[in-house]
Amino acid sequence: MSENILVAVAWPYANAEIHVGNLTGSYLPADIFARFHRLLGNKVLMVSGSDSHGTPITVRADAEGTSPLDVYQRFHAGFLELYQKLGLTYDLFTSTHTANHFRVSQAIFTALLKNGYLYTNSEMQWFAPSQGRFLPDRYVEGTCYICGYPNARSDQCDRCGSLLDPAQLIDPRSRVDGSTPELRETEHYYLDLGKLQPQIVEFLRSRESYWRPNVLRQSLGQILSEGLHGRPITRDLDWGIPVPIEGWNGKCLYVWFEAVIGYLSATVEWSERTGEAGWQDWWQNPDAKAFYFIGKDNIPFHAYIWPAQLMGSGTEFARLIGSPQEAPLTLPYDVPANEFMNLEGQKISGSRQWAVWGMDFLSRYDPDPLRYYLTVNMPETKDTDWDWDEFYHRNNDELVATWGNLANRVLSFAYKHWEGHVPDPGELQPEDRAILAAVEGGFESLAKELGAVRLRAALNEAMRLASEVNKYLDQTAPWFQIKTDKAAAARSVYTALRAIDSLKILLAPFLPHTSQRLHTYLGYETPLFGTQAAETWQDSLGEHSVLRYHPGDAAGRWEPSQLAPGQTLQQPQPLFKKLDPSIVDEERGRLGQKV
Ligand SMILES: [Zn+2]
Repeated sequence: MSENILVAVAWPYANAEIHVGNLTGSYLPADIFARFHRLLGNKVLMVSGSDSHGTPITVRADAEGTSPLDVYQRFHAGFLELYQKLGLTYDLFTSTHTANHFRVSQAIFTALLKNGYLYTNSEMQWFAPSQGRFLPDRYVEGTCYICGYPNARSDQCDRCGSLLDPAQLIDPRSRVDGSTPELRETEHYYLDLGKLQPQIVEFLRSRESYWRPNVLRQSLGQILSEGLHGRPITRDLDWGIPVPIEGWNGKCLYVWFEAVIGYLSATVEWSERTGEAGWQDWWQNPDAKAFYFIGKDNIPFHAYIWPAQLMGSGTEFARLIGSPQEAPLTLPYDVPANEFMNLEGQKISGSRQWAVWGMDFLSRYDPDPLRYYLTVNMPETKDTDWDWDEFYHRNNDELVATWGNLANRVLSFAYKHWEGHVPDPGELQPEDRAILAAVEGGFESLAKELGAVRLRAALNEAMRLASEVNKYLDQTAPWFQIKTDKAAAARSVYTALRAIDSLKILLAPFLPHTSQRLHTYLGYETPLFGTQAAETWQDSLGEHSVLRYHPGDAAGRWEPSQLAPGQTLQQPQPLFKKLDPSIVDEERGRLGQKV
């Protein structure tokens, strides 16, 4: 039975390029998971977009002398290009700067207000006497009062991950001009998390048996020891979504509050623009499952704050947005947050150029080796490290030697000796049936790992099966069989081709580009997956570009191969390039250099 799966992917801030740590942290695992569920035949919706408000963007615009709109649009365009090259298949990748997102975010605000989960409070906010204006939290940094980190942001510490109360920050300073800001009184709306605490705890308890330990620790564990307290959801800023209340000019919804609403608003936008299905199929459907792919720095926002926003909105949201169906909104099923990836033993840092940037990497290498290395090294349970020497070895020893050569030598041999057709095997022998059974067992064992978002384990299992097929070929040795017994060679080659045809599907979520090429060499015409393309959409705020996945006539199915004897093959080419060992020193030499 087909399931409705929402793949909700972290929204990148449109103020910096994307590096390998971002990719392995959330965007790539989301795509692997979405492709797997599409192959299973489930109704997948993978959504995200550029987080285009927020003070990182206004900080950069100020520094560059441009506008926040210019900054967001420039980085957003880069994201669309990278995602297309790497094959990250968003059903919709949009942005928070759309009329639709404004409307949906304001509806969530109003629903929370009507349901009694918002209150106002006068608070002390940083004010810069040197500039005569309030400073958003990110314009102020200082020393974390919990762990002592000297460069903590005013609202969150990047070292210990704690959400901070700005008033307790030690030694505050303005990031604009280094001046010392002062705290002045201003009125804001707060989300009453304390009032929602019993429901939040009940929700987290219901997920306790299968959530990752780090996610539970930073949600349930933290709430049980510290309790939940109200959190401001508006701020003094003019770049963002206006507070939908008379007399609140000059104040916006806080970016953390509205960006997470993007998962919902992107679904609404996709639904209204394409007419392919209602947003309610994922958001008002008790059987739908929503998976949130994020990095560990975003756990509190996705594990309990966004669920609190959803719970607090109740059925009121649907009424406000004019949905015929008044039902509560679907809460996260899982939040498989990843840890961080470091680079050659150091923390990735954009400002120090200590990073491997996605677009730069793809200017020299193909997308599937990147997807492969980022998956075998994915920080699922602990921090991992990008190491160029390891990348070189994984590419040459595993992708090229274990998998690429297997596919290429069998296909080339079949193409040459059976005039470009799949040989007829006659009756399979026990050893042939044994290797096929082993590979076909992968559809169950990998599905178990992939379904639980254990992607490294799934890929390792697929590669182990590829090694088994190599062993089978070493034993049967059709290259020698053909000299004395062409029928036996036909049987071995057919068996290996059929195993490779199955492995192609098992590896397709991870290596979609080369699996598609292999699919073509094996003589299939309909593609494994759909296509994606950028489009430009108009609304009352102007125009915004989006990326959309079109399923088309995609024929990939999570099922063992039924390869037909006699099927016409295409002239095969190697799937992967062998790398020269000199790339290791070359790439290490690039680190830390200004491009
Ligand atoms: Zn700290």
